[in-house]
Amino acid sequence: MRDFAAELENRKQAGLYRTRRLISGPQQPELVSDGVPLLSFCSNDYLGLASHPDIIRAATDAMPGTGLGGASSHLICGHHDAHHQLEARLAAFTGRSSALFFSTGYMANMGVISALAGRGDTIFSDRLNHASIIDGCILSRATVRRYPHADMSALAGMLASTGGHKLVVTDGVFSMDGDIAPLKELAVLCREHDALLVVDDAHGVGVVGPHGRGSVAELGLSEEDVPVLIGTLGKAIGTSGAFVAGPKLLTDYLVQKARTYIYTTAMPPAIALATCASLDLIEREDSRRSHLQSLVRDFRRGASALGYELMPSRTPIQPIMVGDNWSALALSQALEQQGLLVTAIRPPSVPDGEARLRVTFSAGHSTADLEKLLAALAECRTLVAGPDTEAV
Ligand code: PMP
Repeated sequence: MRDFAAELENRKQAGLYRTRRLISGPQQPELVSDGVPLLSFCSNDYLGLASHPDIIRAATDAMPGTGLGGASSHLICGHHDAHHQLEARLAAFTGRSSALFFSTGYMANMGVISALAGRGDTIFSDRLNHASIIDGCILSRATVRRYPHADMSALAGMLASTGGHKLVVTDGVFSMDGDIAPLKELAVLCREHDALLVVDDAHGVGVVGPHGRGSVAELGLSEEDVPVLIGTLGKAIGTSGAFVAGPKLLTDYLVQKARTYIYTTAMPPAIALATCASLDLIEREDSRRSHLQSLVRDFRRGASALGYELMPSRTPIQPIMVGDNWSALALSQALEQQGLLVTAIRPPSVPDGEARLRVTFSAGHSTADLEKLLAALAECRTLVAGPDTEAV
């Protein structure tokens, strides 16, 4: 461990040292951190469902009948009828033939990518894909070719010059920029070049598309267009876990091949039933999504008027671009002094020189909350350079 202290010190010197913040109480915009109340704009609980009474009740009502722990992996004796029920529900929600329930999105990406590609195959991965996709690519032992973010002509060239089995993988909604992948174009390219398309819609499910069915559904893309659809349940859905949806042949294959599905304890069955309750709510009530959209619209108008640099995003992920690590930390700390929690995102989560404040909205935010954020951003404006100004 001799080198560890030096490495940690290097990180501190570069403004890259990360700390964990202690939260108490339920996850909601009004958080208590170390006893101090803060209004949070950095969670992925986009619909404000993480603490919804109906969903909590579904879990607690389930537990006397299902117990708490998963107790075993799915292939030993852990595959509960609650899991089965959720898988049918997820297949219906996504309009796919079948679905498979994973314990986390990280494990879904690692397991799916390494099961579907191997030595001798080629994976084409968007340069801004999530860490779990990058790690899944490495684990697969396939050749990995990263294409410039959302650059379809670059990808077309790479696909045309590569033989053998090909897999293309992309975030649906990009987790740090908030933009949506050119999914229609990706589907066309994959068809033309006989490549398997994998879309991780972790930040799209629940948030975009008709009844929150995600970015793939928003474009009306079918199972043939996007054969491998991944989604997570710990963000907009408000519970925990992830899923892969697609043809029955795909999920049958993954049950045999995806090591992160096979060699891990099944999720607590009560989580599966709570997730079914959340999907019911999401399908029934569109008002959360329309409120969220109006918060995003008003934020973009207000923050741009203040001269902040935003990204071309219409999702609840609204980064304020800052640039250097120290300025991002300074802006985050200044907002915290005004009672607002917006974490600074620094490399390696984003490319060098692109540190930012990743503002995220939740349907749990009120318009008064948004006004508080904009007022605080007005106070802090001089801390960062905008598109046309210099920081002072
Ligand atoms: N995919 C993307 C695009 C993500 O942003 C994340 C989590 N931030 C994951 C997968 C991992 O999901 P989970 O948190 O369920 O492991």
